[in-house]
Amino acid sequence: MSGSVDTLTNHDQHGRYPEATTVEDFAHKLTAVQQRIAEACRRVGRDPAEVRLLPVSKTKPEASLRLAYAAGCRTLGENKVQEAHHKWEAMQDLTDLHWSVIGHLQTNKAKLVARFATEFQALDSLRLAEALDRRLQIEGRSLDVFVQVNTSGEASKYGLAPADVAAFLQALPNYSALRVRGLMTLALFSSEAERVRQCFILLRTLREQLRQSVPVGISLDELSMGMSGDYEIAIEEGATVVRVGQAIFGARPMPDSYYWPGEVSLTRQE
Ligand SMILES: *Cc1c(COP(=O)(O)O)cnc(C)c1O
Repeated sequence: MSGSVDTLTNHDQHGRYPEATTVEDFAHKLTAVQQRIAEACRRVGRDPAEVRLLPVSKTKPEASLRLAYAAGCRTLGENKVQEAHHKWEAMQDLTDLHWSVIGHLQTNKAKLVARFATEFQALDSLRLAEALDRRLQIEGRSLDVFVQVNTSGEASKYGLAPADVAAFLQALPNYSALRVRGLMTLALFSSEAERVRQCFILLRTLREQLRQSVPVGISLDELSMGMSGDYEIAIEEGATVVRVGQAIFGARPMPDSYYWPGEVSLTRQE
C-alpha cells in the first residue's frame, strides 16, 4: 500500500528495507521504484520522463556501489563529501560513473567537491558559492548546483529560509562555474503525509514565484525533493529529482537522527 494515497508516509519503514546484495536485487529494486514513480506521475498527469531517480549510496560499501553500477546506475548521491571523495578515488575505473553531493558542505571542503562531483545539491551560502567557484575555476570544471531551502522551519535543517532565496539567486551569476539548476529540500521527517506534503508545496510555490525574477543564466527547472519515505508525495507535488537511498540499497545501520540531527520522532504505532 502506497503511503502517498493514504495519510501516512513510509518514513517508519526505516531500518526495515532489505539489503540489496546482488545485481538482480538492485535491478528489481530500481524497477520497483521506477514503477512507483510512474504511478505517482500518472495520478497527477505528469510524464515519468520528467522525474530523475538519484540513487543515494551513503554509508554503503564500495562493493554495493559496484553492484548498483552493474544494475545500470550511472550517478550516485552521497551526503558526506569525504566519504564520496574516497569512493570516487576507489572507483576511478568506472569512468562513466558520476557523483552528486547532496549534503551540507563546509566551505573548507569546497575544494574536494570541485575536484570530482558533477552535481551539488546543498548550496546554502554565498561564501560556499564563492569557494566552490574559485576551486572549480582552478580545476577547469563546472558544477550543476541546487539551492537548498529549509521548507520545514526546523532549526536543525540546513538551507536558506524561503524569504532569503530571491536575493541569494541574484548574486549567483557572479560565479560562472556554477550552473544553477533548481531548488532542493528535505521535508519534515514525519509519518504524517499532509505535513510532509506542505513542505513540497512550499518549494514548488516558491519556485513559481522566483521564476518571474530569476537572473539570466539561472534555471529553476529542477525541484529535488523526496526520499525513500516520501518520494511519491514529492512527485505528486512536482519533484523532478527524487533522492532514494534505503529503498534501493537497503536500510542504513544508524537511525536517521544520526544523519539529520534533531529529527522529530515518528508517531505511527505498529
Ligand atoms: C540520505 C539522504 C537521502 C535519501 O534518504 P533515504 O531514506 O535513504 O531514501 C535523501 N536526501 C538526502 C539529503 C540524504 O542525505
